[in-house]
Amino acid sequence: MGIEGWPIPALEADVPAVECPAHVLQWIDALPSEILDIVSTVAQNGGGIWVVGGAVRDVCLGIEVHDIDFAVSLEPEHMMQIFPDAVPTGIDFGTVSLRGEEAFYEATTLRIESNYTDGRRPEQVRWGTSLSEDLERRDFTINAMAIDVARKVMHDPHHGIQDMERGLIRAVGQAYGRLSEDALRILRAYRFLDRGKAGIWDFDFELSEALRQNAHKLKVVTNERIWMEWLKILNGRNVAKVVEKMAHDGVLDTFLPGNWASQHVLLSALQHPYVRDFDGLTRFALLLCETFSIEVDEALVGLKLSKKERNHILDLHQRFGQLPTTSTSSLRVFRAVLGEKAELHLQLEVVTRSHNLSPSMGGSEEKVDDVYALLEKLENLPPLKAGHSSLVDGHWIMQRTGLPKGRALGKLKTWLHRIQIERDLASEEEIEDVLCSLHWSEENYLDWPVLQFPE
Ligand code: ATP
Ligand code: MG
Repeated sequence: MGIEGWPIPALEADVPAVECPAHVLQWIDALPSEILDIVSTVAQNGGGIWVVGGAVRDVCLGIEVHDIDFAVSLEPEHMMQIFPDAVPTGIDFGTVSLRGEEAFYEATTLRIESNYTDGRRPEQVRWGTSLSEDLERRDFTINAMAIDVARKVMHDPHHGIQDMERGLIRAVGQAYGRLSEDALRILRAYRFLDRGKAGIWDFDFELSEALRQNAHKLKVVTNERIWMEWLKILNGRNVAKVVEKMAHDGVLDTFLPGNWASQHVLLSALQHPYVRDFDGLTRFALLLCETFSIEVDEALVGLKLSKKERNHILDLHQRFGQLPTTSTSSLRVFRAVLGEKAELHLQLEVVTRSHNLSPSMGGSEEKVDDVYALLEKLENLPPLKAGHSSLVDGHWIMQRTGLPKGRALGKLKTWLHRIQIERDLASEEEIEDVLCSLHWSEENYLDWPVLQFPE
């Protein structure tokens, strides 16, 4: 495909070119024309441009590429001039986002970084023209390759392709020094071990040693950056193996409460077949099931999770160990309160009980088989005739009871709602019969049943 001479070859790299594997050539041939236009525009303005980073890694591995990043030799201001609708998303670090039909493409000016003094960020950023230096500052060999789209060649000065063939994560340059410069690379290393369906890779010897020696330096990395990488690790397909290795190497202890190297049982819970379908947040909750809720909350606040993420985990955490009874009415209430999380909760109970974990909140005595029975019963529980919302409102109850607005009225409404769900009532008349049978005028409303799980 493609017209002769299009895209226009841009500035040549200062790194030797290597041939692209056949499937990479196919990928280049199928690139959308807007990418070829971007390459040509940079070329016409005397610059060099290469696809770099995760896209090159993923295309070489035969994985779907989700976003394409470029390295360019033109300075960011120059890029803004020749791409008038570009957005200066990170201009101080040399990044502008180029608008495509369906996606944005990040183009980052080649740079030379120096003077990492705090183990976090380079102190200065200087623009360079050397692809070689740009690739040298990248973390791992598989992330330090580039594709020249117009010439259809690759640049792989650190032998990333060879490492891919051997299934190895290796640092660019000296592992110890590279991890000290930016300790987040420690977490990135573990993330890249997980190759999804292709299983799990290894660290080369030098990196493996350096990871253990530098683990404590993660403490200087900002919590937002830690959380971003940790969540990606948690979402990985081979989470159990990666997390076990992190525990063993002393990495988990640097940002999670507890002593992880000895937590074999907890770690092995991640191998349970149900865990494959859990999302990262649920897996995190499971890992923390034996940790006291105060500590869990502290850890989540510390890691700067969003409120939504935090609530999801705390919600699961406070229910660990709790089960509905096997009665249909109890299961109906359980389902009404938890909604789509009802099944997830029971699955978590299967996992914790089959590994004899002791939730920090305590819990009921039932065994795994009892939970499987509940799961089956839940699956076969017909939907409620009138759905989950209350059939009557406060006004309706006021008219029949003469109760004024206030706590008692609210509590009576909840009580009726609970009974409606327990008995699968479908009409106002049925609710009215129930109301007549309740001794609501004689009792203390604080003791009336509520609609919640656990009770
Ligand atoms: P993903 O597919 O998850 O986005 P990625 O490799 O593209 O993975 P990014 O965080 O998007 O990861 O980074 C893009 C590229 O920038 C990486 O491939 C790597 O070359 C480089 N990079 C990112 N973070 C670092 C870092 N902390 N140290 C060195 N190089 C890094
Ligand atoms: Mg990326």
